Amino acid sequence: SSNFKQVVLGGGAVGKSSITMMFLQNKFISEYDPTIEEAYRKSLVVDDEAVTLDILDTAGQEEYSSLREQYIRTGDCFFLVYSIASKESFKECNLFRDKIYQTQDRNLADCNSPESQIIPMVLIGNKCDLEEMRVVPTLEGRELAKQWGIPFFETSAKEKINIDECFYELIRLARRY
Ligand code: GDP
Ligand code: MG
Repeated sequence: SSNFKQVVLGGGAVGKSSITMMFLQNKFISEYDPTIEEAYRKSLVVDDEAVTLDILDTAGQEEYSSLREQYIRTGDCFFLVYSIASKESFKECNLFRDKIYQTQDRNLADCNSPESQIIPMVLIGNKCDLEEMRVVPTLEGRELAKQWGIPFFETSAKEKINIDECFYELIRLARRY
């Protein structure tokens, strides 16, 4: 069985905790404390292989958190999450990606090089149930992910759309490295 450390990154209120909880507990609770940064463990089977995930649901990017720094530095795989109802959160994904490349122990000089794919990441446009509030077109998310060479999903933690799928995809990527 393999063990991967996964970090859920993204702006405030994009749904990081909701995605994590839906995956872990199959529950959508509409209010999570936005300041709580918590690590969880889940063992599961993906493609007939056992895997244990240590998931850090990050919070409050502005303040320093040594747990978060440590997770980003030693993390095996990452979600970059935005909300389809927030342009700002979409832009912020660039910053989180830069942060990963700056912080990781791996020796990768240029995060825009093709080798950037060496760090397993999945781009997630959450809240896809809120179509009437959409400001980030699906195509823009897809194009950004394509540029980065990583998988892309639009998800809804509320309606459980593509939640398991994006975790499985990230596990598959992590296994290749
Ligand atoms: P975090 O700060 O990124 O952890 O975001 P939360 O998981 O706390 O979610 C922020 C707010 O967005 C909460 O009110 C959630 O109920 C709501 N939310 C999260 N995911 C979704 C979703 O997929 N659809 C909708 N409609 N609301 C969501
Ligand atoms: Mg949260």
